[in-house]
Amino acid sequence: MSLVEQTRAALRALYVRDNRPWVVAFSGGKDSTLLAQLVGEMMLEMGSAARKQVYLISTDTRVEAPNIEEYLARTMVQIGTYADHSGMPLQAELVRPEPPESFWGQLIGKGYPSPTRWFRWCTSKMKIRPMRRRIDEITARSGSVILLLGTRRAESPERAKRMMGRELTDAGLNPHDEIPNALVATPIVAWNTDAVWEYLLTNPPPWGGDHRFLYNLYRQAEGGECPVILDLGQPSCGGSRFGCWTCTVVKLDKSMEGFIDSGEEWMRPLNEFRNWLKVVREERDWRQDKLRNGIKVEGQKGPFKPGKRLAILEKLLHLENICKKSLINDEELGYIQQVWSREFDLSGRSALDLALRFGRHPICWEGSMSLDVQDDLLEELVAGSDLDPELVRGLLRLAHDRYPNLDGYGMKTGFEREIRATIERAITNMENA
Ligand code: SF4
Repeated sequence: MSLVEQTRAALRALYVRDNRPWVVAFSGGKDSTLLAQLVGEMMLEMGSAARKQVYLISTDTRVEAPNIEEYLARTMVQIGTYADHSGMPLQAELVRPEPPESFWGQLIGKGYPSPTRWFRWCTSKMKIRPMRRRIDEITARSGSVILLLGTRRAESPERAKRMMGRELTDAGLNPHDEIPNALVATPIVAWNTDAVWEYLLTNPPPWGGDHRFLYNLYRQAEGGECPVILDLGQPSCGGSRFGCWTCTVVKLDKSMEGFIDSGEEWMRPLNEFRNWLKVVREERDWRQDKLRNGIKVEGQKGPFKPGKRLAILEKLLHLENICKKSLINDEELGYIQQVWSREFDLSGRSALDLALRFGRHPICWEGSMSLDVQDDLLEELVAGSDLDPELVRGLLRLAHDRYPNLDGYGMKTGFEREIRATIERAITNMENA
């Protein structure tokens, strides 16, 4: 049996095995595109026998490179429309961070310096949480889900090692490390890169069009995709991949430079802005002396000063005009004003007035501030220590959500085992970052 036939047979056997809905994590990159296509083809072939619900979920961080964002949105609409017309139980959804979790909400609103390898606040807020929220909603309704990931062994030796070490159920599934009641399947684990491209370039997707645009994106960017990230144990999505156009975790944004070199001149000002963000985060006089919780810590600088946040917002709005692309949305502007009003802006209008000057009409953001409160509390807890806030968040979640009581048989042992696993994952993450 060929690899394609084996994968198709395994997918179908998994689909009919039980009633648990599937969640296909879709990044728009080649691997998850292949996975989505194989799932779509399987459902098409099964016809009315395909009754189990499949959710194809993608995260738009709100700072995706505009050409990638457009491609992703277009593809999701195409898949959704096709599924509707053909009556397939397949739902394509884009999830996004809430304004308090967004890049601009954090950087311009709260003054967080842009992320680095050692202070990578972005992945958890912009990628993991929005996806987790949606998966948790589905799990709450259905009891449990099967999560399909387009992970491949050939992607990196580290990933291959991690995958080998996982315990599998008899159906080849493994429990997700951090999402309760989610089992993970990796149907294209054995595919190599050539096989992925060969399939995509010779088989148009059932929802129409072809994959030439995607192929050209890769050729232009000379990189790999930024995978769907569901936990921080996965390596950083910065690097020579399609990532956020604002990513300062990497020294140079090779994919953006690749796009510019291949003629996408409109991206040059974006790249210059990114490089500028990387410089100003290190300017000591741009940063407050105290951390956000009011504590002064030797050798550490706090968030951006109010005037500097204003300067960054002004430069960003100016950049929008130059590129003629929307780079920050009205809700984020409303949230920024809310934070500024709380922290320093006595007029309660500085961000709004600035936005109006650039022809923008921000809307008041009325969402819950509980996300902020949780973050601030956590920051206060770990301030001045070398503790990773994400590790602390993971341990709290474990104690609060997974092991609220330790009276049952084996609960203490399970709790200890998972604490150890959580700490090991945090160490791996720091090594990978
Ligand atoms: S691409 Fe960069 S900025 Fe975006 S989530 Fe990943 S590490 Fe953070």
